[in-house]
Amino acid sequence: MQTPNSDGAERNVVVIGGGFAGTTLARRLERLLPAPWRVVLISQESYTTFNPMLAEVVGASVFPEHVIAPIRQMISRTRFIMARVTGIDRQRRLVAAETLAGVREIRYEHLVLAFGSRANLSIVTGMAEYALPLKLIGDAMFIRNRVLQRVARIELESDPMVRRRLGHFVVVGGGFSGVEVAGELADFLAGARRYYPRVAADELAVTILQDGRRLLPELPECLGRSAARSMGRRGICIRLGARASQVDADGVMLADGERIDAATVICTIGSRANPVVERLGLATERGRIVTGADMAVEGADGLWAIGDCALVPNAAGGQPSPPTAQFAVAQAMQLADNLARAASGRPTRPFRHVSRGMMATTGHMKGVAQVFGVRLWGLPAWLLWRAYYLMRMPTFGRKLRIWIEWSWSMFFSADITHLRFTRSSEADEAMSPGAAPSIATDPAPVPPRVPAGLRMAAPVAAGNTH
Ligand SMILES: Cc1cc2nc3c(=O)[nH]c(=O)nc-3n(C[C@H](O)[C@H](O)[C@H](O)COP(=O)(O)OP(=O)(O)OC[C@H]3O[C@@H](n4cnc5c(N)ncnc54)[C@H](O)[C@@H]3O)c2cc1C
Repeated sequence: MQTPNSDGAERNVVVIGGGFAGTTLARRLERLLPAPWRVVLISQESYTTFNPMLAEVVGASVFPEHVIAPIRQMISRTRFIMARVTGIDRQRRLVAAETLAGVREIRYEHLVLAFGSRANLSIVTGMAEYALPLKLIGDAMFIRNRVLQRVARIELESDPMVRRRLGHFVVVGGGFSGVEVAGELADFLAGARRYYPRVAADELAVTILQDGRRLLPELPECLGRSAARSMGRRGICIRLGARASQVDADGVMLADGERIDAATVICTIGSRANPVVERLGLATERGRIVTGADMAVEGADGLWAIGDCALVPNAAGGQPSPPTAQFAVAQAMQLADNLARAASGRPTRPFRHVSRGMMATTGHMKGVAQVFGVRLWGLPAWLLWRAYYLMRMPTFGRKLRIWIEWSWSMFFSADITHLRFTRSSEADEAMSPGAAPSIATDPAPVPPRVPAGLRMAAPVAAGNTH
C-alpha cells in the first residue's frame, strides 16, 4: 500500500480520523486540491459518529444506526482505508496502520491528525471500574441495555433499599452531554415504566452531579437556569456544587463526605489524549497537540492537527478553540484552504471562527439555545436542535429515516427491547450443564447477591416475574 511520489505521480494528503474534523476536511479537499494530489482518509471505524446525538440512543429516541453515517457515503474521490493508526515515522513520512489485511505503511506529503480524544475515567477514584462513559456508539447502547436491565431487576427485588438503589441513575457532569443524557434518561424511564407494573414511579430517579454553581456553564446563566428549572419540574434532581470523589458498585461519594446510593453511574466528564499522541513526542497541553495559528504543528514539517486532539488558537478572540463539533468543522474548512494554499506555494491563513452559538436538549421536547446572539428555550430550542442535526446528516435517505423515527417517537412509547448480542455458539455454551447463568450478567453487582444455584429459589417481589 506504499504510495510512491518520487516519480512525480500521486502526492498524498493523509488524514487520520473519520470524525467531524476528518470527514469535513476530506470532502472539502476533494474540491480544492488539484491533481496529482490525492486525499487518503484513515479511520478505525467505517463510520462517523454524531456524538451530540448519543444521548438520544440512550433514551431510544433514535436507533443506533441513525446517529452514525458511513464514511464511504460522505466522500467521493477520497481513498478511504479502515484501519487503526499505530505509529508515524516523521523522518520517512510514513503512517503505519493496522488494516483488515495486516499492518500497512502509507506515504504522505502532508499528514493531518484528526483522531479526537478519549474518555478519561481516571479523574475520579473507581470511575474506570464502576461508571459508564458516554463517548462511543457502543457506550450509548451499553447504557441503554444497562438501564433496561436495572428496571427489570427491580421487579425481582423485595428489599426497598435495594430497589431504590437499582432505580437511581446518577449522571456525573452538568455540561452539554450530562444534561442531554439525563433528560433523555428521565423521558425513557417515564415511558418504559408502564411495561414494568411492579416498579413504582418513585422508585426511579435521575440525578445530575455538577461540580459548579450552575448547569451548562458554556451558555448564558439564564439558559443554564432555564434548563435546571425545566428538568427539575420533571423530577430530575440537580445537585450543584457536588463533586464526585469516589465511585463504587453501590453509588457515589461526594467530596464533602456525602454518600449517594445508585447502582448506575454515567460519566460525561473528562477526556484524555489519544495514545498515538504520546508516541509522537509532540508538544501537548492538557493532552491536546499544540498548533500554530494556521493549524500546522510547530517544528514538524508537513504535520497539521485539528479537532478535539488539537489545541488550535482562534484569531477571533485569541483564546484556544473549545473541543466542540462546531469548531472541529470550522477548523477543517480552514485547513482545507490552507493545504490548497501550501500545495500551490501561497501563504497559509490563521484559523478564525466566531461561534454561531450552542444548544442542548433537556428532554421532554425542550431545550435551550443561543444562536447568533438570540436566546431560545423550550420547544423552539428543541426543534432548532433537531433541525440542525438533521441538516448535518449525509444523504437524503438517512435524513428521511431519522425524521420518520423522530416523528414516530413523539407519538409512540420508546422501544424497550433489551438487545443481546449473543451468538448461537455462546447461547449453546450458556445452556450446557454446569454453565453459569448468563441472563443476570452484571459487572457492577448490587447486593444482596444470591448464589447462582439458588437464583430461581430466591424471594421475588410481589407476584410473579415476567
Ligand atoms: C456525548 C457527547 C455529546 C457531545 N455533544 C456536543 C454538542 O452538542 N455540540 C458540539 O459542538 N459538540 C459536542 N460534542 C463534542 C464533539 O462530538 C467533538 O468535539 C467532535 O466529535 C470532535 O470531532 P473530531 O473529528 O476531532 O473527533 P471525533 O469526532 O472524536 O473523531 C475522531 C475519529 O478518529 C478515529 N480514530 C481515533 N484514533 C484513531 C487511530 N489510532 N487510527 C485511526 N482512527 C482513529 C475515531 O474512530 C473517530 O472516527 C459531544 C461529544 C460527546 C462525546
